[in-house]
Amino acid sequence: MGLAEVKTFKNLEDDVISVNRCCACGACIAYCENQAFNVIEMVGYTPKFKSDKTVENCKECGYCYYICPQTEPLLDRLKETHLVKDELGNIIDIFAARTTDAKIKEVGQDGGIVSTILSYLFDTNNIDAAIVSEHDENFKPIPKIIYSKDDLAKSAGTRYSISSNILPLKDMTQVAEEIISQKKRIYDADQLRIAFIGTPCQCRAISKMKLLNIKPAHVISIVISLFCFENFDYDKLVEILKSKTKINPSDIKKTNIKKNFFVTSKADQVAEVSIKDLDVAVRNHCLECDEFVGRFSDLSIGASGAPAGYSMILTRTEKGHSLIDSLLATGYIERYIIPADQISEWRPKKINWLKKMTSLKMKK
Ligand SMILES: Cc1cc2nc3c(=O)[nH]c(=O)nc-3n(C[C@H](O)[C@H](O)[C@H](O)COP(=O)(O)OP(=O)(O)OC[C@H]3O[C@@H](n4cnc5c(N)ncnc54)[C@H](O)[C@@H]3O)c2cc1C
Ligand code: SF4
Ligand code: SF4
Ligand code: SF4
Repeated sequence: MGLAEVKTFKNLEDDVISVNRCCACGACIAYCENQAFNVIEMVGYTPKFKSDKTVENCKECGYCYYICPQTEPLLDRLKETHLVKDELGNIIDIFAARTTDAKIKEVGQDGGIVSTILSYLFDTNNIDAAIVSEHDENFKPIPKIIYSKDDLAKSAGTRYSISSNILPLKDMTQVAEEIISQKKRIYDADQLRIAFIGTPCQCRAISKMKLLNIKPAHVISIVISLFCFENFDYDKLVEILKSKTKINPSDIKKTNIKKNFFVTSKADQVAEVSIKDLDVAVRNHCLECDEFVGRFSDLSIGASGAPAGYSMILTRTEKGHSLIDSLLATGYIERYIIPADQISEWRPKKINWLKKMTSLKMKK
């Protein structure tokens, strides 16, 4: 490719950001900041040049454009490396399971699988940190790097609005310093092992970065994707929820989508809002999204198709598969026992269900 053809942040603004296709993952900024180019920043949920003056400092390297999950380049190669041949991607195994940890059971969204995987990885010293999403006092998602399993309860559960989970990677020096201060051990920052939890679009960006072998994604040691049908604009979502349920965002304990949107207050009052009433709050980029299960990951986890209280787990890579095997073998999670008369049809039925959900999503 000739230099003249390299796309830059200005192209990203034209092709993605200004046409509302940006999913605010933060990958462009995490990369640019990590190279100390000091050019772009996230303003709310929008990546922007830091100032008019910084426009001329852009190195026009083009990496921000290529790693963006909403651009075409690299997608074909990504599909090849992740063995993606259809809408569900590579599946080594598919089954339902739930946590055996009583505390996680209480706070987990579905089967508490995501938090339990992180708990196991911390316990066995297989990660130094994890990127998760916590929330503020008004239930607004906050991307966060956590360094200990003691912090897991704060991220358990689902907040159905954007959490720019790749953004915290922008300052690796700070991450390394935090790890040193918490564990009092010296690490080579390039050798850190961080688990990444995110939506399918965020996992796609991380996978593009890993494909190019660029910083700061080199420290991501495992990629766990959540299923995702759609995501909402925070301000619009809480406004509608407040007007329909009379529950203030600061009083929300849990939100859950099961056909409709359910809000549980801190006083355990449960209110239901029609999912149709929330259509106006769906983020624009989600309307054209073709990913439901998160194909570019080591593991995909969601509730769709799972019995109540369980999560569906799709293992995609050998790394993801053997991790889940270890959690089962050590009793961190327990597998859903399929009734004897359903064993032969269970797996094909679930695969069909997930395909149906994906095509429903694409027709939205
Ligand atoms: C926007 C969104 C839409 C989803 N839509 C569906 C769906 O249509 N069908 C379905 O089956 N599953 C969906 N999920 C996934 C589902 O809600 C659960 O996250 C999943 O089943 C894992 O449950 P768990 O009990 O194992 O997770 P837990 O152990 O409770 O852990 C939950 C994890 O989710 C992360 N998280 C919470 N909110 C966000 C956020 N806004 N962005 C990124 N990460 C976040 C936390 O960091 C935490 O690590 C969605 C998730 C999100 C974030
Ligand atoms: S320096 Fe490179 S990564 Fe940063 S904004 Fe410019 S093109 Fe994008
Ligand atoms: S990389 Fe992420 S944050 Fe940056 S423009 Fe693309 S979608 Fe938006
Ligand atoms: S629906 Fe697609 S674009 Fe929207 S948050 Fe989920 S994975 Fe990202």
